[in-house]
Amino acid sequence: MEDNCLFCKIVAGEVPATVVHEDALAVAFEDVNPQAPQHVLIIPREHMDSLNDVSKGDEALIGHLFRIAAQIADQRGIGESGFRAVVNTGPDAGQSVQHVHVHLLGGRSMAWPPG
Ligand code: AMP
Repeated sequence: MEDNCLFCKIVAGEVPATVVHEDALAVAFEDVNPQAPQHVLIIPREHMDSLNDVSKGDEALIGHLFRIAAQIADQRGIGESGFRAVVNTGPDAGQSVQHVHVHLLGGRSMAWPPG
């Protein structure tokens, strides 16, 4: 656990969140400021600042996060209609929380390229 990391505190249960999935490696919860009808964040329990910190040994873990995103999308009936799973990394991408997270967004059509 990283000091002063909001998402580590959610993993530890020190900050409340609407948790929708938990397993040994990951936690998923509703985004507090949803940008789509469905907006869930999927995070590793282990702290890593961003994708820039991911090592070869983390490859399965990162894949696991995306698989959970697809499973949640399927459970919510948007697996076929479509969804977006994105990882904002660094200032240009607008990363605001320095604990790697996959955004699952869906329930509406989305533009491409993103803004
Ligand atoms: P990013 O800008 O890609 O780093 O995404 C961070 C996301 O975390 C944003 O979509 C925020 O709305 C979300 N967020 C911030 N604080 C919380 C919180 N306490 N519970 C749930 N989501 C949060």
